[in-house]
Amino acid sequence: MLWSSVPQLRWHVTQQVLVTWVAIAAMGLLFWYQPAIVGYAHGFLAHESLLGRGFVSSEFADKVLANYFSYGWWSLLVAWVTLEAGGFFLVWRYKAKPDEYKDFQERLQKLAEEAGVRPPTLIVLRTMGARILNAAATQSILSGPKVIVMGDIVELLTDPEETYVTAHELSHIKHLDIVAGVFIGAGNSAISIQKWAILSSAVYELIAFGWRAVFYLGATWVMLSLTHTLYKLLAAAQSRSREYLADVGAVKVAGWEGRVHLITGLARIHHAMTGWRPFRIFHRTGNIFATHPDIEDRAQALKLEPQVLADGNVQVGDIVIAGYTGW
Ligand SMILES: [Zn+2]
Repeated sequence: MLWSSVPQLRWHVTQQVLVTWVAIAAMGLLFWYQPAIVGYAHGFLAHESLLGRGFVSSEFADKVLANYFSYGWWSLLVAWVTLEAGGFFLVWRYKAKPDEYKDFQERLQKLAEEAGVRPPTLIVLRTMGARILNAAATQSILSGPKVIVMGDIVELLTDPEETYVTAHELSHIKHLDIVAGVFIGAGNSAISIQKWAILSSAVYELIAFGWRAVFYLGATWVMLSLTHTLYKLLAAAQSRSREYLADVGAVKVAGWEGRVHLITGLARIHHAMTGWRPFRIFHRTGNIFATHPDIEDRAQALKLEPQVLADGNVQVGDIVIAGYTGW
């Protein structure tokens, strides 16, 4: 349990677990009641003072969302098959050789053991562009958990930074964040497909059923777009709360004292990708559609207070994150 193992962050963990589950429940309800929500809007349109009853035939109205739930099942199936097939492909093509990043592989297995995660396969993606480097985690039923290192991240990070960033990824695996992502993503694509199906059928419907049908479809599309936006906001909030919890998971495994290395590691990755000065990396965006929290928020969540210094560098704990090209 994260709650009991990092006592310094109990309130934070409680909050983020709550956000996660409320967001998941809200997305589930939104997805399930989508036809009812759209139906309510249709009922509203059918009011005397608006379009009136019989604006479109009930036969036409019934078929608009007729495939909605099957889009959901298909999306889930495709997402899962993609995850499994992708998992096999990664292992087949990019699995680390036994002598590749030997120290890192040993550290990964040791951390996995400490985190209570099945030993993951290390995947090394070197062929990415020069500015793409990162660490990620994925898992699937058939090919198991994987930690992916992209670009020269292993060369870039210091040893303690590597430990914290790796432990963060392992925490995603342990808490089945990838599995949650598959379901959330499937709901998202089902709504997208439904919207696309409505748009793409509009031309045909115009010929077959006239402008009333197209107007009706337009209203349906607007309603779906509203709920879709809400769904995406919830998905982003859920993702951010999982990031916070993975940070706590990293601290749980790698220790409270050295947690600043998680933040400097993240900043170093960010800097290598963007070339930004530290003050800019730590500048809050507050983007409500972001899948990851701002780095300043992540630092504060771990009870670190990053200070922007007069020269544009940033101090976190005892460490000054400095320089134009590295530090
Ligand atoms: Zn993460």
